[in-house]
Amino acid sequence: MDRDGNAHNLRLISGKGGAEVQRDTPAFDALGFLQSVTATLDLDGVLERIQDQLRAQVQLSGWIFYTEDDAESWSGGKEDRHRIEYSLSFSGETMGSLILMRGRRFGDEEQEQIEALLGLAAPALHNAWRFHRLAACLETDELTGLGNRRAFEIQGEKWLADCRRQERPLSVLAIDLDLFKNINDRYGHTVGDALLQRVADSLRAATRQSDLCIRMGGEEFLALLPGADLSAAMECGERIRRAIAGIRTTARACGDAVLESDGVVKITASVGVASIGRSTSLHEAYQAADEALYAAKQAGRNRVLAGA
Ligand code: GH3
Ligand code: MG
Ligand code: MG
Repeated sequence: MDRDGNAHNLRLISGKGGAEVQRDTPAFDALGFLQSVTATLDLDGVLERIQDQLRAQVQLSGWIFYTEDDAESWSGGKEDRHRIEYSLSFSGETMGSLILMRGRRFGDEEQEQIEALLGLAAPALHNAWRFHRLAACLETDELTGLGNRRAFEIQGEKWLADCRRQERPLSVLAIDLDLFKNINDRYGHTVGDALLQRVADSLRAATRQSDLCIRMGGEEFLALLPGADLSAAMECGERIRRAIAGIRTTARACGDAVLESDGVVKITASVGVASIGRSTSLHEAYQAADEALYAAKQAGRNRVLAGA
C-alpha cells in the first residue's frame, strides 16, 4: 500500500533468479527517477523513462509492454534470450504485462531492484495508462469502434507530417453509403446501425492495419492510406466498394412505408479518392475526395472516382 492507500500489485509471471549479481551498478537516485516519471502523462515517455532506469540498473537489452487485452504493445531495445515478465496492476486495475530481456539470467537481488523500481513507478505509470485510454476513447466512434473525426484530425496531421518528411504519398478515401435513408425508413434504425457495423468490418478487412479507418458521422466514412499513391488508393477504394456491395443481412420491413417484402437487405457505397500533393493540406485532400464522391453519386452511385 502507498500513502494514499492505493494497493499496487506486482506479480512475477515468469523468470528465474539465481544468477550472479553484478556489484558495479550505479547508485539509484529514487527521487530523480520519481520526478522524471511523474513529469509526463505520455505513456510512451513514462515507459521509456522506466526502461532507461532499468537499463542503467540491470543492463537490460530489451523490453515489451503489452496491455491486458493484448490490443496494444510498446517495445524498445533488442530481444534477448533471458526474460522476466511482470503483470502490472495499480489501484485494483491491471494495466498490462512487462517483459524484460537480457543475455544473462536475472539474479535475485536484481529482481528485487526491478520490483522496487516498478513499485515506485506504478502510480505514474497508472496515470499515464489511464490518460492514454481516455484519449483513445475520445478518438473512437462508439457504434463501430472505428476512429472518429477527432482521430482523423489528430492522427491525420501526424501522418501527413511523417509522409512529407519521408517523401511518401498519402491518400484519402471518402466513402458514403448509397440511399441509406431508405434502409432506415424501411427496416428501422436497428438494422441501419447493424449495417454500419458491418461496413466498419468491411473497411477494416479491405485496408491495411497501418491505415486509418474513420466514421466521420452518420453513414460517412473515411480511410487514410499512408504510402498509397492515387492508383493504389483507387484499388483500395474498389476493394472497399466491392466488400460493401457484398454485405447481406435479413430484416423485416417495418413502419408505415412497408412496400418491400421481408428479406435480404443489400447496400452499396460511393467512394471518392484523392492523393495528397506536396502543398495540399489534409482538409484540402478531404475536400477533393468529397468532391469526387459527389461526382460518383451524380454518375449513378456504387462506384469509385478519383478527384482532380
Ligand atoms: P445518398 O446516396 O445521396 O448518400 O443518399 P442517403 O440516403 O444515404 O443520404 P442522406 O444524407 O439523405 O441520408 C443519410 C441517412 O443516413 C440519414 C439517416 O437515416 C442515416 N443515418 C445517419 N446516421 C445514422 C446512424 O447513426 N444510424 C443509422 N441507422 N442511420 C443513420
Ligand atoms: Mg449516403
Ligand atoms: Mg451522407
